Formats: sequence, structure tokens, C-alpha cells
Amino acid sequence: METKNIWENYSQKQLRELEVFCKDYRDFLDNAKTEREAVNVIVNLAEKSGYVELEEVIKAGKKLKAGDKIYAVNMNKAIMLFNIGKEPLEKGMNILGAHIDSPRMDVKSNPLYEDSSIAYLDTHYYGGIKKYQWVATPLSLHGVVVKKDGSTIEMAIGDDEDDPVFFVSDLLIHLAAEQLDKKAAKVVEGEALDIIVGNRPLVIKDSKDKKKEEKKKDPVKEGVLKILKDDYGMEEEDFLSAELEVVPAGKAREAGFDRSMILAYGQDDRVCAFSSLFAMLQVKDVERTSCCILVDKEEIGSVGATGMTSVYFENVIRELMNLEGKYDEIKVRRCLSASTMLSSDVNAAFDPSYASAFEKKNASFMGAGMVFSKFTGSRGKSGSNDANAEYIAYLRKVLDDAKVAYQFAELGKVDVGGGGTIAYIMAKYGMNVIDAGVAVLNMHAPYEATSKADVYETMRGYIAFLNAAGM
Ligand code: MN
Ligand code: MN
Repeated sequence: METKNIWENYSQKQLRELEVFCKDYRDFLDNAKTEREAVNVIVNLAEKSGYVELEEVIKAGKKLKAGDKIYAVNMNKAIMLFNIGKEPLEKGMNILGAHIDSPRMDVKSNPLYEDSSIAYLDTHYYGGIKKYQWVATPLSLHGVVVKKDGSTIEMAIGDDEDDPVFFVSDLLIHLAAEQLDKKAAKVVEGEALDIIVGNRPLVIKDSKDKKKEEKKKDPVKEGVLKILKDDYGMEEEDFLSAELEVVPAGKAREAGFDRSMILAYGQDDRVCAFSSLFAMLQVKDVERTSCCILVDKEEIGSVGATGMTSVYFENVIRELMNLEGKYDEIKVRRCLSASTMLSSDVNAAFDPSYASAFEKKNASFMGAGMVFSKFTGSRGKSGSNDANAEYIAYLRKVLDDAKVAYQFAELGKVDVGGGGTIAYIMAKYGMNVIDAGVAVLNMHAPYEATSKADVYETMRGYIAFLNAAGM
């Protein structure tokens, strides 16, 4: 089968629509560098589109009806949206599920220290990264510090032009002969990923009190602590109850002379999260309830209360069933198994510079449309969704009828490697599920690349899917 570059097919009207959509997408990337920030942005967009919080709907005590739009937020880090269809929930839903966490470095619980007049924050990386890619590049710090009194300090430092940035040092090339002999996995080790946050000692000039002028043990660290105290009202101990994420600084950019691509941090998987959300907010008057799940923790195995393995999703379905009328557990089970899902996640785009990692007939290409993926490359399809032929045939018809360009691919050559998504977790309910999303070049690097055409086409595919009648 031939893969085509879909740019050739677009009308002027479509090209205009594509550019507007991709500008919105870049704005989303700039304003949603962490899962918490993503949830904030998504709640705003959803409320503008008439979505109401589940708790409010429960309080109001009204019965669920077709056309109701409901969202539920889990611990500020995951969100689920529902557009209630004309059919009862028992008949199943059309579900889009993406994740809003991305690889990064997290600040440790006891992070601040000083060495040789440099103040550092110690980090522990989150998700799969090539550690050597994260040094000597500007970084920003995003997250929350929750104080014992329950108040929350929000932080976002390094993405405004006037903000300072942070960085991890790297050894100069002149002295790196020994370092460069190491394996790439060891060139920069995990414990070396500490960010530099200061170099100026705290000096208190006070002639009346000679003692105060005496040098502190770690004057640069003290200087940083004073700034944290003055500007954010936090003490050193407050790092214990903080969630601070270190991410590449700077905005999402258009890439290439032709501006055909987007280069940005966190496109795995915010590209599918945004396209799924956009599709969700577009669809109206659906027959079958549409659902959009945007979860946390995918990059570390979907663990935790905000990851897909949490029962939060099931609980929300139960609440909806309860609002629909007489609650019945068997109907919950029927709803879940009758649902169809696209696990909206990215695939590895074929990279001509590293062609040997791919099998070209079964690879996804930049600019060739939405990517379906039944399985990834390793250990005999281990961890894959291995979706049913019947389901794939159904999806082919849905997308062909909507004239959406798509391709089928594996993530890499057989036994070269692989990667998981949330698909296997949803498959446990007995529902049909397959991975479907955007091809990404240099996935999990500080800056990942996508084709605008693929982002646009995937959004169109998601809309067609949500409007479909089910199997
Ligand atoms: Mn992903
Ligand atoms: Mn990933």
C-alpha cells in the first residue's frame, strides 16, 4: 500500500482551517506544560462550550438527558468529559482517551543544596528520557507547593521572556574524552540531572549586629531560600509537599521553511489530548454518548489515583448511570463492554536517519494522516491492544466515509523495542479499543516534532469516530 503526503489533497479552505486549528494547538502547548496546567485550560474550554461539573449536576438532582454535557476532574490532574447521547448509556459510548503527562524531571522531596557556590535543585526524571538530551538547555519550573495550612502556591518560572530560566550543566568538550567513551545511557546519569538555580550568596549588611554579617554555611542556598520566602512565601520544608516539574523552557514553534511542522515539548501526548478535546467540543446531538478521557501517569505505567488504572473512571460512569435513572451494576458493565474506544496516543514517525529501527511497510510517516496501531514491536506483541479485525473494519468505514486520511503502523521493527498506552487497561472491560493518533519524530526528546497535517487529520478522524453509530 502506498502512503501519500496528504498536504497535496487540501483545498484552500481546509488549509485555512488547518492553520487556525494548529495555532490553537500551539497555544494549548504553551499554556499546558504540566498535567495540572492542562486540566485548568481544559476546564475553561469545556465550560465555555457548556460543560458542567459532575458534582454540580449531582447536587442539582436532575435526571440525565440527551444533550447534557458533563465533566469530572480527578485531583486536578485528570479530566473526563461526557456528551450524553440519545441512546441509553447501557448501549455503550464512543470514547477517546489520551494522556496529559509527559516525560520531564521532577524536583525531589529534599532538593535544595549548595556545592562550590552553586545552588542546585535535585531532580528525579519522570518517564523514559535520553538523559543526555536534557543538559545545557534552558529549562522552566512549573507546579504547586501546598503548605500545611492547605493553601497552594502556584509556580511557573521560565516561560515568560522576562523570567529567569534554569539549566543542567554538561562537561565541556575539551575535558570530555573519558565521558564520550561511555555508553550513551551512561554519558549523563540520572543523579547528574540536578538543575542549577543560583550562584549569588545571601549577604546581610548590618553594622549594628556583627554576628549577622558572619558567613552562613551555605550562603548561595540561603540566598535562594530568601527569594522563595519573599516571592512565594515558602519555607525549605515546603518542598516536602510540592509537585514541581522541570520542563524545557520556551514556546511551541512552527518548523521548516514551509512551516509544515510543529516543534515543541510534550507533544506525546498533548497532541492527541488536544485533538481529542477539540473533537469532543465540536460534536453536537450525538446518538451515542461521547466521552473524552484525559489522564495522568501514562508515562510511568498509568499508576496512581490519577492514572488510568485507578477506578476513578468506573466511579464516574456509575455516577452517570445513577443520574440516568435506576442504578444497576449490570448496566454499568454493559455500558463498558459495549463501548468503542480510540486510545489517542502518538506513534513513532519513520525517521530516515534511523531507518534500521523501522520496517518501512509498517511504519507511520509524517504528513500521511492519522496512525492506527494494533501492536508495538517487542516480545511477540507484548503489551499491545491487538484490536479485532471486526473493529478495524468498522473504523475503516467510519474514516473512509468522512474522507479522513489514515495509515496503519507498528511502533518500530519486530523486537527492536516498543511502548505501551492506556489501551490495555480499557480492553479489560471487554470493549473494542485500538491506538490511534499522530506520528511524532524524536518522541520523548525535549522538543518533539509533528506534521500539522497529521494533527489536523487526526482531529478530523476523532470527530468522525465520535459521531459514529457504534458497532
Ligand atoms: Mn504517549
Ligand atoms: Mn510516551
